[in-house]
Amino acid sequence: MHNRIKALFCLALVAATVGFAKTAAAAVVHPKLDSVASEFAGHPMVVDCYTDSGADVHAWDITYQLYGVYGVFYPSMPNDVFLSPAACQPLLTTVNSSLQDAGLRPFAVGALTLVHESFHARGWVNEADTEACAMKYLPRAMQDFGVYPTKTIAVKKTVTRWVRRKVGKRIVRVRSSRVVTVHRNVANPDYGHVIGWATENHNTLPPQYLNGTCNA
Ligand SMILES: [Zn+2]
Repeated sequence: MHNRIKALFCLALVAATVGFAKTAAAAVVHPKLDSVASEFAGHPMVVDCYTDSGADVHAWDITYQLYGVYGVFYPSMPNDVFLSPAACQPLLTTVNSSLQDAGLRPFAVGALTLVHESFHARGWVNEADTEACAMKYLPRAMQDFGVYPTKTIAVKKTVTRWVRRKVGKRIVRVRSSRVVTVHRNVANPDYGHVIGWATENHNTLPPQYLNGTCNA
């Protein structure tokens, strides 16, 4: 299964590629993504989502194909995170539609990338430590996107009780049943599956992204 997952590269790039980011058409932004990034960066952030069309995005696609980059943070642009379509689209779809429409694995990649780049924006430089923080705080980010460990479901239940009923001149007790709808909290299987996909993705990263420590 591992070789079917493209490794998730999230880089803190400098100098040579900054010009690209400044000229690229970062077409899509969403306040939800901005707020999630700001939460982990510790200061106001804008998440710029590249789209699939446009000349500048073609340049991004080449970069993406060569290096498998899903997200980029430039230290010279401390309030911006750049996400590739593969990372951003599932987050936008989750916000605008549903997690099911986004797909659990694409959402896992997107959420993990967003938290990773946000920790770069917080000042984390070491890739392994940054990635360790991304894994540690992924569950909180998931909840920001409405993906909780439990979910509430409606269950129909038959309730039976004794009631007093007048029969002629006598009061008798009879059993009375009715169907009611009750709400129960149950485990949300999507939650565990997203964590599983993120972990699998994490494990495919190059060595410099692994075995870090998150002190946040
Ligand atoms: Zn990184």
